[in-house]
Amino acid sequence: MASLTATRDLMGTIDEIRQHLVAVLEAAKFKVKSVEGDTIKAQSGFSLTSLGSNLSVLLEQTDASTVRMVFNLEPRQKTVMTDWGRSRRELNRILELLEARLSPESSENDLQCPECHASVHDEDVFCANCGSKIA
Ligand SMILES: [Zn+2]
Repeated sequence: MASLTATRDLMGTIDEIRQHLVAVLEAAKFKVKSVEGDTIKAQSGFSLTSLGSNLSVLLEQTDASTVRMVFNLEPRQKTVMTDWGRSRRELNRILELLEARLSPESSENDLQCPECHASVHDEDVFCANCGSKIA
């Protein structure tokens, strides 16, 4: 395996998704190198366990309200043993952050935790914020 790919469909327009994705990449310590049309290129930084990786994301509007994101993550140093588990965690983190940003605000789904009043999803059993059981 020379690269790690993932495909994810999200509700929204390319402009919205692109804007959120750039913010999420920066929050996840990726350096956004270029945003050209529907392609975003970014690099993760050096760390103790990694020489970093190159990420490209291709955005495609598949219908009026759906954007398909195709992620491709590859190591910057192809000769170095790559920790794909780490790369997958990195990618999953980006997707989690992005989905959290895009999830409907409490105004649309105003279920609240009875204890701390954080917004919760109707399929949740426990509050993600305080851990209380949701009736
Ligand atoms: Zn709570």
